[in-house]
Amino acid sequence: MTTIGVLALQGDFREHREAVERSGGTAAEVRLPNDLEGLDGLIIPGGESTTIVRLMRTSGLLEPLRKLVGRGFPVWGTCAGMILLAKHLDATGIPALEAMDIGVRRNAFGRQADSFEVDLRIPVLGDPPFHAIFIRAPVIEAVGPEVEVLARLADGTPVAARQGRLLATAFHPELTPDSRFHRFFLDHVVRRA
Ligand code: GLN
Repeated sequence: MTTIGVLALQGDFREHREAVERSGGTAAEVRLPNDLEGLDGLIIPGGESTTIVRLMRTSGLLEPLRKLVGRGFPVWGTCAGMILLAKHLDATGIPALEAMDIGVRRNAFGRQADSFEVDLRIPVLGDPPFHAIFIRAPVIEAVGPEVEVLARLADGTPVAARQGRLLATAFHPELTPDSRFHRFFLDHVVRRA
């Protein structure tokens, strides 16, 4: 059985937990350093990245997580979670895990397109296109040489990427009934099938 921790400090962790269970994994909520034991991977949900970083510090999770990620522990960040994974942030972001070689800009879509939904072609998931929900989403502005872009908006902006055992999406796969992204994390990032 593959056990995936879902960081449950703030944000939409319940939806991720359900999506992991729908995808054939076991989900465990993570609130304290002890909760990291026995996990095969971790999901950092969407929410408010500045709040999540603050809670990661006060709960004592930030340092153990930084160490785990440094040793190759699989982590997937969605939206705020992607901000927490990034090495490079715009001036409004608070550095957290600084693990993934991506440059991320928070709240990248102006008021008009604050939140939107779009069908994305994601080659690693195959057909049909994936219905992606963006909520006050960040975008990836720069990618390092080891980063593979998995999905782009029509204008070319990267919105999903992978670097080894790290996965980042600017949108929220946990808010749709389509479990393909969760299966991809389980099968190809965590279990490396
Ligand atoms: N705008 C939020 C932030 O910058 C992210 C939004 C989300 O996770 N849906 O933290």
